[in-house]
Formats: sequence, structure tokens, C-alpha cells
Amino acid sequence: MSQVIIIGSGCAGLTAAIYAGRANLKPLVIDGHEPGGQLSLTTLVENFPGFPEGIQGPQLIENMRAQAQKFGAEFKSGAISEVDFTKRPFKISAGNETYETQTLIVASGATARLIGLESERKLIGYGVSTCATCDGFFFRGKEIAVVGGGDSAMEEANFLSRFASKVNLIHRRNEFRASKIMEDRARANAKVNFMTPYAVEEVLDVTKNAVESLKLRHMQTGETKMLPVDGLFVAIGHEPNTKVFRGKLDMDENGYLITQHGSKTNVPGVFAAGDVQDHQYRQAVTAAGSGCMAALDAEKFLEAQKNA
Ligand code: NAP
Repeated sequence: MSQVIIIGSGCAGLTAAIYAGRANLKPLVIDGHEPGGQLSLTTLVENFPGFPEGIQGPQLIENMRAQAQKFGAEFKSGAISEVDFTKRPFKISAGNETYETQTLIVASGATARLIGLESERKLIGYGVSTCATCDGFFFRGKEIAVVGGGDSAMEEANFLSRFASKVNLIHRRNEFRASKIMEDRARANAKVNFMTPYAVEEVLDVTKNAVESLKLRHMQTGETKMLPVDGLFVAIGHEPNTKVFRGKLDMDENGYLITQHGSKTNVPGVFAAGDVQDHQYRQAVTAAGSGCMAALDAEKFLEAQKNA
């Protein structure tokens, strides 16, 4: 039986593993279906403190993993299929394996939604991004596109206009899901060019490993046209990876786990960290910070049980 099981091996889960490992709790990390989380899908990370020249996302994750292993963290692969929180030790099932643990840290992250094109997937980190805060800086003086019609798309378009020469905001409908104030702000921005109703059909050029243009289809006329851009930001929402916790842990209407007093969920002994409980900041450094908090909270919880 484990003292601490950590679900997820992104920035939050690995930081929790480093802290729990150093506290001698021998954490077991279950990788989940996206080992390494969103950082493993990015290229250069320039805003993680401590790396003045930047660091490649996958390298940063590998370093954190090695650091966690150094302090005794054990890793298992497999996606969680079931959890039983009715009594402690909690039971966690992943494939054919069942694990028992005194405390659990959920750091299963949120997955950025993608349009679903093969070319889009192949060019992630090579001009296609799902994080304006992370990658906007690389597009100084360039013409780019943002896809989406919600608040995220408006916010990202405005943010990216600080760097880009022009931001084409592409949305599949003429109506926007975004709040009026966010839409108005983007419309008032001289650098943001609204293009509706258009769908992105293809991102080119996969053969050059770089974004050079988008093939767009007008949703009413069916007409297609090419839009030359150097980057594509997909801002069509995120999906927190919480399906398995439905009805077991409190979540908001979008499925994000609700935490209180640091990382505590509604089940004593179950803690949450990173993007699975944060739809606002979503940064590597904030995920790492909350992973640290969850490990400290789990440690304190175990200590209190021992003394009870
Ligand atoms: P969202 O509100 O769900 O909007 C997603 C947008 O992406 C929609 O316009 C949707 O189009 C479009 N979309 C979805 N799938 C697509 C696909 N396959 N291809 C093309 N377009 C697609 O998501 P969000 O903008 O990330 O916002 C999520 C939540 O966070 C919201 O509650 C939002 O208010 C909040 N948020 C708030 C702020 C803020 O206040 N500062 C900032 C960001 C987010 P359709 O409209 O046609 O469905």
C-alpha cells in the first residue's frame, strides 16, 4: 500500500512527486494517457524561472522526472479506470492493476482541444500552439491566426496582437460564444482581423515542418481559400481530465475539480493540483507550485492521521 499516489506526470504531478519523495513518502506516480502532460507537447519554454536561455518542454519534464526518481518516486504507466473513495485506503484501478493508497493527488491535467486535423497535430510546437502565453513571443512581427469563438480566443487574439503584426481571428460561425465585453475588446483592436464563418481545413506545410498557410473553407458557400500565416493558435477550449471522478469529487460546471484551502478536494485525503483544478492561469510554474502545495497537504494529512 502507498502513502501517496499521484495521478498524472505533468509539471504538477512531478513536482508533487519531488516533494513527496523528499518527505520520504515513496510516492507512486501513475502516468495517465498523456505522460509528461502539455509541456511534452511544446518546444522552447522561455518563462520557467531558472532557465535564462529557455529549455525545451520535453527536457524540462524529463529533468523533473529524474529529480522525482532521485528522491524515490516510482512510476507506472496506465490510465485510471476507476477510483473508490468510500473508505481509506482508497482503491485506484488502472487497467488490470489495482492500487491502494492512504492519500491521492490528482494532477491529471486538462487537454487542450484540437480541431482534429492531422496536419495540425503534426505541426504542434512547429507553429501550431495551444498556449498564447507560452508561445506568443516567438511570433514578433509575424502574421498569425487564432481559431475559436469563445473568451479564450478573444483573450489570446488581444494578447498576441502585442507581438504579431496581424492576428486573423477565425471562427466557424458568425455568432460568438465569447462575452460581449471580450468580443468588443478584440473588435476594437486594429491588429485583429475577424474572419467568419470559416473552418480551418488544413495547416500547411507539414513537409517543411513549419506553418506557412491555412486552407480555409467558408461555412456557407463552401468556397476555399488560402491564408498565409506563420503561426496558428488553437483556442477552442480545454477538457479537464476528470471523467473518472464524476460524482466522486466536487467539480464546477466545466468539469474542473474544486479545491479549497490549498489543494483539498471534498474528500479528505484527496488533493488536486495543476490544470485539473485551474482553468485560469494554466502555466507550468503555477502547476508546479500547486503540485508542491498538494504534496505538503498530503504530508500534513498523513501526519495528522498518525497522531490521531
Ligand atoms: P468555449 O467558451 O467553450 O469556446 C470554444 C469555442 O471554440 C467556441 O466558439 C466553439 O465554436 C469553438 N470550437 C469548439 N470546437 C471547435 C472545433 N472543432 N473547430 C472550430 N471551433 C471550435 O471555450 P473557451 O473560450 O476556452 O472558454 C472556456 C471557459 O473559460 C468559458 O466559460 C469562458 O468564459 C472562460 N474564460 C474566461 C476568460 C476571461 O473571462 N478572461 C478567458 C478565457 C476563458 P462554437 O461557438 O461554434 O461552438
